[in-house]
Amino acid sequence: MSSDENIKVGVRIRPLSAKELGEGDTECLNAEDRSIECGDDHQFTYDYAFNTSTTNKQLYTRAAQPLLDDVMRGFNATIMAYGQTGSGKTFTMGTDADAGSASGATLGVLPRFVNDMFARIAADTSRVVHTSCSLLEIYNDQMRDLLMDKSSGAEPAELKLDTGKKGQVNVQGLNRCEVNCTADVLRVLGEGLSERVVGATNMN
Ligand code: ADP
Ligand code: MG
Repeated sequence: MSSDENIKVGVRIRPLSAKELGEGDTECLNAEDRSIECGDDHQFTYDYAFNTSTTNKQLYTRAAQPLLDDVMRGFNATIMAYGQTGSGKTFTMGTDADAGSASGATLGVLPRFVNDMFARIAADTSRVVHTSCSLLEIYNDQMRDLLMDKSSGAEPAELKLDTGKKGQVNVQGLNRCEVNCTADVLRVLGEGLSERVVGATNMN
């Protein structure tokens, strides 16, 4: 990896929603440099801390885009969003089923990364790069392939993990779709997401 640390952690504070403001909630967190201040007496330091005014573009440029250099050199990279329902994971990652119609500052991490990646691949005429995508859901401790070919009408088999000799973790039988541009990725994402188990809660 091109940096000293191969895991970086950032925290993003989202603005209070209209519902939260309506219930009288007030801001209690502040991002200062790389720290999150929680009231007057707690401070937590991360690799990145993003305030409510941070745009998706700014977050992408600082925290995600640098990984592209490593990916283009053949390293694996993972970008993971973690947090309670309603905390802003989908907004940040840009993984809404209609992510393709987002634009400008609201475009999330995934379409930006994929866009930049295809631009880099197109600019590099010295090699041939194959790009494919998979999509799986873990729900109630079970993995489901969201890109199953449904034409057979068969019920999807439960996917199994396979840990290879070098500690690589593979999901046996997971479908891979060939993708050649950002629009391909967003179309596959939209189709796959419609297969998810979703339940609306008070939080979203
Ligand atoms: P999650 O995917 O973590 O459940 P969402 O991404 O759906 O959460 O976010 C919940 C709500 O908050 C959505 O309406 C989303 O548009 C809004 N939201 C999240 N983060 C931000 C942000 N940084 N700026 C403005 N709105 C945001
Ligand atoms: Mg979400």
